[in-house]
Amino acid sequence: MTLRVVIIGTGSALSTRHFGSSAVIVSGSSPILIDCPDSVLRALAQGSQSSGVTIDPLCIQDILITHLHGDHANGLEAMGWLHWIARQGTRAADSRGAPRIHAIAPVAARLWERLAPAMDQNGSATLADYFSVKIIDPSTPAIVAGLQVEVRPAEHLIPGCGFRISQGGATLGWSGDTRFDPAHIDWLSSADLIVHETTESRVHTPIACLNALAPALRRKMRLIHMEDLFDQAVTDIAALHEGEVLEVSGTPR
Ligand SMILES: [Zn+2]
Repeated sequence: MTLRVVIIGTGSALSTRHFGSSAVIVSGSSPILIDCPDSVLRALAQGSQSSGVTIDPLCIQDILITHLHGDHANGLEAMGWLHWIARQGTRAADSRGAPRIHAIAPVAARLWERLAPAMDQNGSATLADYFSVKIIDPSTPAIVAGLQVEVRPAEHLIPGCGFRISQGGATLGWSGDTRFDPAHIDWLSSADLIVHETTESRVHTPIACLNALAPALRRKMRLIHMEDLFDQAVTDIAALHEGEVLEVSGTPR
């Protein structure tokens, strides 16, 4: 069984060239979006075109959110409105109900505080009009579109988490935004492929820290959340590209 992942954004929060770090898992029963950056609809359209994998934003019923920084969550407004408008009309998405947002409790708790000023329709609408919120507890794996999703809180400027996403014996590790944290990397290390963030900041993970990891770990790691000036020559860990399709296979243990 292969877990198939289309990368739609690889940039840091301040990138002028790339969409915010995000991806779509397309091997589940329906597509799962990992984080929802600025201009998400354009990111999905461009990612579809460059990968050759068609991703219809109206077919995305599950969104995993690592944390509420804009480069990971600003696209929720557009996704929310897109689905809401479709449900008001006669489009095929009508019967699907509101998309689900999966997040850890501290992220879910402040979601509406973040979206309400743009979406409360002068006080008549609530979060439930746009999204169904599912809290993932770090002690209990969730099932999302047929895939198992585990979370681990990450150390960042605000509450956030990383993910381990498994399907048929294959596991994708996704660091989320995090300072360099050996315990977080240790948790991710059971994955067959690890997507790890890197940005030169004390609240992110500088590339020198990842370069010091064991070779076996570096070999199954790919980079995301790069600054525009990131230089591939400083590391043997390959940076991801927008439109790239990852095929994650399980390894016999
Ligand atoms: Zn962040």
